[in-house]
Amino acid sequence: DAPATPSASKLLFNKYKLGRLLGQGTFAKVYHARSVLSADPVAIKVIQQDQVRRDPSLPAQIQREISVMRLVRHPNIVEIKEVMATRSRIFVVMELVRGGELFSLVARGRLPEDLARRYFRQLVSAVDFCHSRGVSHRDLKPENLLLDHHGDLKVSDFGLSALPDQTRQDGMLHTQCGTPAYVAPEVLLSKGYDGAKADLWSCGVILFVLLAGFLPFQDENLMRMYRKVYRAEYRIPPWFSPDARRLVSRLLVADPEKRVSISEILNLPWIRRADPHPPIPI
Ligand code: ADP
Ligand code: MG
Repeated sequence: DAPATPSASKLLFNKYKLGRLLGQGTFAKVYHARSVLSADPVAIKVIQQDQVRRDPSLPAQIQREISVMRLVRHPNIVEIKEVMATRSRIFVVMELVRGGELFSLVARGRLPEDLARRYFRQLVSAVDFCHSRGVSHRDLKPENLLLDHHGDLKVSDFGLSALPDQTRQDGMLHTQCGTPAYVAPEVLLSKGYDGAKADLWSCGVILFVLLAGFLPFQDENLMRMYRKVYRAEYRIPPWFSPDARRLVSRLLVADPEKRVSISEILNLPWIRRADPHPPIPI
């Protein structure tokens, strides 16, 4: 797609100088760029309009992603700066997050508990803020959690998020989405579900992965994996501290009504523990 791909150092609206490719998602490419006026670095998500026209659900999805990002400004959420469009492309200008995905950290193995606590606290703080604005993310996983140059976590990719007006009269969401390994049982069952409760399940899977270095629900057979998720069938490795074990087992509860709430999480000993030394970001 050579002609459609912006060439290096191309000027965008005389405002941004486009640089190298940072990452590629399902329908967008994200580039490094620099403001011409201030020389400040930014990240620009480029979406091809012809791709938008080919998929009838995409314009609504992009609109939602943009309105949600404008709604949830928080230190642990990737900041949206502006949106520009030409006839062929949409450009979403965002804060640049330089440390890569939490995914690549986890891929190298489990984290020490104090570092996992630091990331988990930041994740919960961002998710709590989203829920207070009526937004559920619905695709929380280490690939969508970026790390900045201070080692602080930033939630990104609100492409599958839901706004309050998306819910029906019963206040429940009905769209099946997310990534199987991180998706809550009630979402898989395609009954109505509470998006906030479903996000907390994903937070539980993320916490498990950070502390274990592997996924709680895994199977080469997809149906068997779903069954493990429905039944919340998983084994906590012996190296988890008793408090970490307690928190994980309060989050990975199949019945959303019995799952721990964010306000309860914030009072659990594992979260409240003060670490003697500040954890060293990797
Ligand atoms: P998609 O919605 O298509 O999955 P994402 O928003 O997840 O696209 O972006 C794709 C990839 O680009 C991400 O996985 C990440 O590696 C990179 N990326 C996205 N946003 C930023 C950002 N603000 N700063 C740096 N890299 C980013
Ligand atoms: Mg993504």
